[in-house]
Amino acid sequence: MRDARARRSASKPGRDTTLFERIGRFLDAQGLSPDPAHYDFAFAILSAPDEPLARAVARLTEDGVRLTRRDIERLGGQVVEGSPPVRSRQANSESDTEVDAAIALVAETQQHVDGFAQIMRTMQAETRGFGRDLEQSAAAITQLAEIDEITRITSTMIARIRDSEVRLAEATAETETLRAKLVEALDSARRDVLTGLPNRRAFEEAFAARDLAAGPHCLAVCDIDRFKHVNDVHGHGVGDRVLTAIGQAMATECAPHLVVRHGGEEFAVLLGGLSLSEAAELLDSVRAIVAAKRFRNRDTDMPLGIVTFSAGITAIHPEETAETAFSRADRLLYTAKAAGRDRVCAG
Ligand code: GH3
Ligand code: MG
Ligand code: MG
Repeated sequence: MRDARARRSASKPGRDTTLFERIGRFLDAQGLSPDPAHYDFAFAILSAPDEPLARAVARLTEDGVRLTRRDIERLGGQVVEGSPPVRSRQANSESDTEVDAAIALVAETQQHVDGFAQIMRTMQAETRGFGRDLEQSAAAITQLAEIDEITRITSTMIARIRDSEVRLAEATAETETLRAKLVEALDSARRDVLTGLPNRRAFEEAFAARDLAAGPHCLAVCDIDRFKHVNDVHGHGVGDRVLTAIGQAMATECAPHLVVRHGGEEFAVLLGGLSLSEAAELLDSVRAIVAAKRFRNRDTDMPLGIVTFSAGITAIHPEETAETAFSRADRLLYTAKAAGRDRVCAG
């Protein structure tokens, strides 16, 4: 009891941070998922390296040998099936699509949650032990008149309170990291990496969540004219920059209406609270602003000529799906293309 108390009060913030990192590495090396039961087991081993449990594990894992399920259970641990181990979870989420990146972030966040839960469990256990010790110490104080003993008990209690404060500060920092990661994960799943605009998923969600009480809604599908030519003449890098510039200009000019990159050189606009003729007029003014821009190749200073877009725009019926409205707007877009491009076709 006294040893355990001395160990706890000797722990420092830096040491604790390292301990949680070591728990992560232990789970990784043993192929164990970040399940709370596995955390508990790793915590028991790594927080008390001189205890028989840690020594038994050290003997069994000499030369890099992994613990078997029987080893873990014999040592009082538990193996939980179902969730993949730390390493494979990270490896699986390696992908360059934004959705996979978001999933990886969520997985990482999940590990933070597990770590956070472990910190909270440890704190709870410590608080329970602390309350018990406090009762015993209070009883001891009333019986003992020795000032040395009272001083010793008091300083132990103070050390443990400081320890709890450090853990609480860690848990709070962990919560902040968690909150930031979740915001990042949610945002990156709905954002196009190249242009920084919201993506198709964001469009579908906004379409489903549109406020029918806020008046009529319209949907426009816009496609850059002869964009292949820009790529062919100036290269894909320049094409990317032109695509981004046009997308950003559309978002600025259409605000507060939602502009998303729907795919390739195609953008969708969701306009709320405007009649079809008002929405078509707004979109046509945006078309004219984009058509008036004079792009230049940043490296060669060569003019890129006029870059325009064509659009099809339609009023969304209250009951229809995004696909139905989208295909109607898409047909109107192709009418605009066939009629010579650089125009808005409403219907
Ligand atoms: P149209 O007026 O009929 O739309 O002609 P277009 O050349 O724009 O249409 P087409 O569908 O033939 O070609 C679209 C081009 O857009 C081809 C494709 O390489 C390019 N593109 C799509 N996405 C990107 C991108 O992210 N970056 C770059 N640089 N080009 C892209
Ligand atoms: Mg095009
Ligand atoms: Mg296209």
